[in-house]
Amino acid sequence: MILRENTRQIKIDEQTYIGGSNDVLIQSMCNIKTSKIDEIVKQINECAKIGAKLMRVSVLDKEDALAIKDIVKQISIPLVADIHFDYKLAILAIENGAKKIRINPGNIGSEDDVAIRIGVNSGSMDKEIYDYNSKLSAELMVKSIEKYIKIFEKYNFHKLILSLKSSDVLETIEAYRLAANKFNYPLHIGITEAGIKEVSTIRSTAGLAPLLYFGIGNTIRISITGDPRDEIIAAKALLSEFGLVNIPKLISCPTCGRTEVNLDELSNKVHNYLKTINTPITVAIMGCVVNGPGEARNADIGLAGGKNKYILFKKGQIIATIDEKDAYSQLIKEIENILKNY
Ligand code: SF4
Repeated sequence: MILRENTRQIKIDEQTYIGGSNDVLIQSMCNIKTSKIDEIVKQINECAKIGAKLMRVSVLDKEDALAIKDIVKQISIPLVADIHFDYKLAILAIENGAKKIRINPGNIGSEDDVAIRIGVNSGSMDKEIYDYNSKLSAELMVKSIEKYIKIFEKYNFHKLILSLKSSDVLETIEAYRLAANKFNYPLHIGITEAGIKEVSTIRSTAGLAPLLYFGIGNTIRISITGDPRDEIIAAKALLSEFGLVNIPKLISCPTCGRTEVNLDELSNKVHNYLKTINTPITVAIMGCVVNGPGEARNADIGLAGGKNKYILFKKGQIIATIDEKDAYSQLIKEIENILKNY
């Protein structure tokens, strides 16, 4: 199997590479028409702020392709143009500053110096390989993408990134496993059409965790119906469980009959706060003093609940007993102190 670090390294721009020993790159896609320049720029910058390293935009018409020129001047991460039907739009998008294009394989063309992602999924299979009447399989997806790779290679074009997404978890895992055995191009992993946030986070984790564990995947998109920022947050959370990105970690207990504080409310508030910072600190919020202090002690900062009170731990030491109503503000104050010295 060709593991992540042994894939080709593809340059996207001076700061951004996909494949080889580079970090798994987090990407998402804008859900606003690309020609609405101000809104798109705002969305891309918001996503970049929370960890997106690449954003994709749809290019449906000439207006969208031309808008890229203004957009790239106002953003700090590279932009991928997603082209479905018209290869001329791909060329126009590149001329206007897109650093990578994503095409459906029906529209293949060899372009100068941008990377190209070729993606097969149940919606864009080669018609000669899969006739849409039989059952789609991982083998057919690999066969389909192989055909397209050969066309690019015939023109000596190797700046390729591959994706083989299905909305079926098992099929996706198998397709990427087969692809990683066969090709040395970087793989863009994701479950396609994965659903609303609650459904997608489970489905995407089920499909992508085995791949990440076995060292497959150079760039990731968690597809979620809704706000692309949720995709970035979910991708970071998943990568952090495998040590592939460093972000804050929140530990909180499930609560039980011993709990005498509102742990649910506090944990959610702290979770929302931690989403706004990038420092990899560990925060523990535990419901009681039976199991709580143990976990809280191992964290950078922690709380263990009592009767309407919390014990506050910092680097393993009890530093205060605080009323429940002050717990959030005290905790955040202490976290900010840690961040200052990090
Ligand atoms: Fe219950 Fe305490 Fe365990 Fe939380 S830490 S589940 S309150 S025993």
